[in-house]
Amino acid sequence: MRQALSRSMSSALLLVLAVFATPLHGQERSNGLLAEGTPFETAWHAYDSGVPGPTVLVTGGIHGNEPAGARAAAQIASWTVARGRLIVVPRCNPPALAERTRRLPGLEGDAGDLNRHFPRRGDAVDAPGSEQADRIWTFVLDSEPDVLLDLHEGYGVRAAGSKSVGSSVLTARDEDQDHQQVMLAAINSEIDDPMRRFSEIDSVVNGSLARAAIEQLGIEAHILETTYADQPLSTRARQHRRMVAALLAELGMSDHGPARMVRPSETRPAVALYDGPGAGGDSQGRLFERVLEECVVERIGAADVRDGVLGQFDVVLFPGGSGSKQGGALGVDGRDRVRSFVSSGGGYIGVCAGAYLALHNYTWGLKLLPLDSFDREHWRRGKGTVRMEATGSGASTLGLEAGIECDIHFAQGPLMVPSKDSDLPEPRILSYYRTGVGKNGADPETMVDTPAIVAGEFGSGRVLLFSPHPEKTEGLEALVLRAVRWEMRLSEPTAVPAGVGLN
Ligand SMILES: [Zn+2]
Repeated sequence: MRQALSRSMSSALLLVLAVFATPLHGQERSNGLLAEGTPFETAWHAYDSGVPGPTVLVTGGIHGNEPAGARAAAQIASWTVARGRLIVVPRCNPPALAERTRRLPGLEGDAGDLNRHFPRRGDAVDAPGSEQADRIWTFVLDSEPDVLLDLHEGYGVRAAGSKSVGSSVLTARDEDQDHQQVMLAAINSEIDDPMRRFSEIDSVVNGSLARAAIEQLGIEAHILETTYADQPLSTRARQHRRMVAALLAELGMSDHGPARMVRPSETRPAVALYDGPGAGGDSQGRLFERVLEECVVERIGAADVRDGVLGQFDVVLFPGGSGSKQGGALGVDGRDRVRSFVSSGGGYIGVCAGAYLALHNYTWGLKLLPLDSFDREHWRRGKGTVRMEATGSGASTLGLEAGIECDIHFAQGPLMVPSKDSDLPEPRILSYYRTGVGKNGADPETMVDTPAIVAGEFGSGRVLLFSPHPEKTEGLEALVLRAVRWEMRLSEPTAVPAGVGLN
C-alpha cells in the first residue's frame, strides 16, 4: 500500500511530502548497539525532537518469556515525539528472548533473573549482578532520562485474583501516581471485561531496573505489565503502546497516536499478520515470521485494523484457523478497512481460513475475489498431504514448476468455484488439487481438480489465496514470501534448481 500510494500520488502531494521528509533543524534519529560482539548484543534507538522537553526511556525484553514488551518497544522505536527525547532499548536480554525463558539460559533463581541485577540501596554487597545489567545501567546513566518505562508481562490478570503482577502498572513513588492513573485510564477505557482490567500496584521489586532508576537516580519509573495467558501478542503489544502513548501525551510529547508500528521510512516489505480471534496460536505466528524473515512482520488484531493500522503495511496476511471467527472479530468496520486497504493498492494473502475469509458466499466474508466455496456441508473433510499441480500462471506468479505435481499440506481449506453473483474480474488459477482427502462423510474425489492456489486483483491491490498450507510444507515455505513479493510487484519469481515443485 505504501508503494502503491507513492506510485499514484499526485506531483503536488509528492512535493508536500518531500518538504516534510526533510529533517527540520534539530530533529535527529540515532541508533547503536549495546554489548556489541557479545551474545547480548542489542540495538538501541533514539529520537531527539530538537525541542526542549523530557527524556523518556523505554525498555523491553528483560525477561525472555515476555515477548510483548520487546515487541511493543520495537514498535515504539518507530515513534517520533514533539518535544524532548524518546529512547528505546527493545530487547534487553537477547539470549533469554531467543530461548523464550524468564531467566538467563543455564542460571537459576535471582542469579538468572536480569531484573534482579540492578543496583540496590544499602545491601548491595550480596546482591547478584551481571555484565548485561551493568551495560544497560551505564546506558541509562548516559541517557539521563526523566522517566523510565520498563515493559513486562505476567502469567495472570491481577484484577482476576491472580498472584501474578500481570495487567498492572507498578509505581513506587507517591508523586508518580497521577501518571500511573493516566496510563491505567487509557488502557482500561478499551477493556470491557472487569476480569481483564489493569490494576495499580504501589511497589516495585528490589533489584529491578525501575527500582534502581527510582532510588539511584531519583527519577520517575514504572513497570508496565500485560498478561501473556490467553491473549494474542497483538493485544498485549497494543496495550503496551497505549500506556506509553498515554504518558507521552500527558507529558506533552505526543506526535501521533499509539497505532504506529512501522517506521514510515522502512524499506523492507511490511506484513501485517492477523493473530486475533479465529487465528491459530502463537506457534503459527512464529512460523510465518520465520518464513517471512526478510520482511518486517507485525502482529495485528481486529482493534488494530479498525484503528487503521493497515496503511502502514504493504500486505495483510490472514492465516489458518476459522474464517467465520476472523470475519466476525473484524466486524463490519474492520472488514471495510481490509477491503479499502486492498482496493487502494495493498496486498492480501489468505491461507486456509484466511482464504475462506476472502470468498464471496459468506456474510462475514471480505468478497475480494469472485469465488465461492462449495461442498460447504463437508468442510470438515480432514487434514493430510495432497498432491497439487501448478499452471503456467503458477509458474509466472510464484515460480512453481508448471505441469509438475508436488505434495502440500491440506487442513480443511476451501474448495473454490466461480461465484455466480459477483462482477469482479476473474482470478487466475495458480495450481489445482490433483488428489483429495475425505473424512466425516466427505468424498475425497470432490476436491480433485479444484483450485488450490488462486490470484487476482481487487481494485488497485492484489489478492493471493492458498487453500492448503505452504508454510507447513517442507520445501514450499518460500511461496509465502513469493506471494508478498508478487503483491508488491517487486520482481518476477527467481528461478532456482528444481526441487519439490518449485523452480
Ligand atoms: Zn518481567
